[in-house]
Amino acid sequence: MKNAQCKRCLNKFDEKEIYTIQQFQYRKSPSYEWTKEFFDILKIDEWESFCEACLLYYGKISSDVWLKYCKN
Ligand SMILES: [Zn+2]
Repeated sequence: MKNAQCKRCLNKFDEKEIYTIQQFQYRKSPSYEWTKEFFDILKIDEWESFCEACLLYYGKISSDVWLKYCKN
C-alpha cells in the first residue's frame, strides 16, 4: 500500500520507504543541531515525510551549504 506521501515530490510511497530529516542525526558532519537549524529556515520539521531520493537531495544541499559557508 502506497499510503505515505513525500512532502517534496508529492509522490506516494510505502510507509517503509519514507524518511525524515531525523536520518541526519547519524551523519558525522554537519552536526544535527546545525542541520535542524538549516531545515528550520527551509520550514521543514523533523516529522515531515520524504522519499529516499528527496531526502538524499536535502542531505546534499545541507552538506554543500555547510561545506561552503559554515565549515571553518
Ligand atoms: Zn520525494
